[in-house]
Amino acid sequence: MNVGVVGAGLVGGAAGYAMVLRGSCTDLVLVDLDAERAHAEAADISHAAPVSHPVRVRSGGSDYAALAGSAVVVVTAGANQKPGEDRLELVERNAEIFRQIIPQIASAAPQAVLLIASNPVDILTALSAKLAPHSRVLGSGTVLDSARFRSLLSGHIGASPQSVHAHVLGEHGESEVLAWSSASVGGIPLAKVLQVTPELRGEVEQGTRQAAAQIITGKGATNYGVGAALALITEAILKDRRAVLTVSGPSPYGPFLSLPRIVGAGGVLSTLTPDLDPAEELALRQSAEALAQVASALPELR
Ligand code: NAD
Repeated sequence: MNVGVVGAGLVGGAAGYAMVLRGSCTDLVLVDLDAERAHAEAADISHAAPVSHPVRVRSGGSDYAALAGSAVVVVTAGANQKPGEDRLELVERNAEIFRQIIPQIASAAPQAVLLIASNPVDILTALSAKLAPHSRVLGSGTVLDSARFRSLLSGHIGASPQSVHAHVLGEHGESEVLAWSSASVGGIPLAKVLQVTPELRGEVEQGTRQAAAQIITGKGATNYGVGAALALITEAILKDRRAVLTVSGPSPYGPFLSLPRIVGAGGVLSTLTPDLDPAEELALRQSAEALAQVASALPELR
């Protein structure tokens, strides 16, 4: 089970490290425009293998041919948000990088599922699907945001975040929608377990939506949470877990965005229809509109 990571920066490195700690794959290869960076990150991550899982980690330098045989290629290449910058403002910079790298990845690893993480992830996932029409493509979407939502709820409930089921839908970004109406704890509707006051709701909404901005202000980037999320999605594909994850892909709302989807061998197996109240449904449509507007800036997505 070979995995490639393109972009051996903070997110790519954290994803590779999480895959070794979790034993997500047997072979991991890192590729980056900066070959020295790929060599160094691969060497560092490889030293975690003897004390965790026997994943063979190597650097492909800046040679895309090294991705041959990969079942999943995780794409984390590209520029990061600057403090105060919106994810959508990154679009032009990273779209240009994707026009160069996605065709090379698809040609080196034609069987691979492409898992896109670079931001704005919904737009770049849609662009990748256009640039690699024969590849299966999905985006990490709001898997990380859903983890943040579950983590904050779990703190209020006193139950493990694993027992809290709650989805963040729509854009991975400002317009994302926290699906309160369908959240549950151990199969019991959230409202029966926790008194959701407007204050609590506001605090959790803000904590989920602004987590990235706060972390970026404090340390310049976010990488560990997303790294673990990328390892989880990769495992769901490699091990045909059929896990329900809020990954990004085509949607009935128009643009690519996150909905609960069953992820297994081959990527997205099906998309589930979330049970939303009218306000959440409206917010999801507005999130789709915001994404459609940005997508229209790219000729491939018009
Ligand atoms: P980083 O600057 O640490 O790493 C980016 C890497 O991409 C660098 O090593 C750079 O050399 C490489 N790169 C640039 N152009 C390339 C090219 N043409 N070919 C190959 N490699 C290339 O940035 P980071 O913090 O790792 O963030 C990477 C991306 O992930 C950003 O777009 C960021 O916004 C995004 N991100 C996504 C999520 C999510 O939940 N989806 C979370 C955090 C960050």
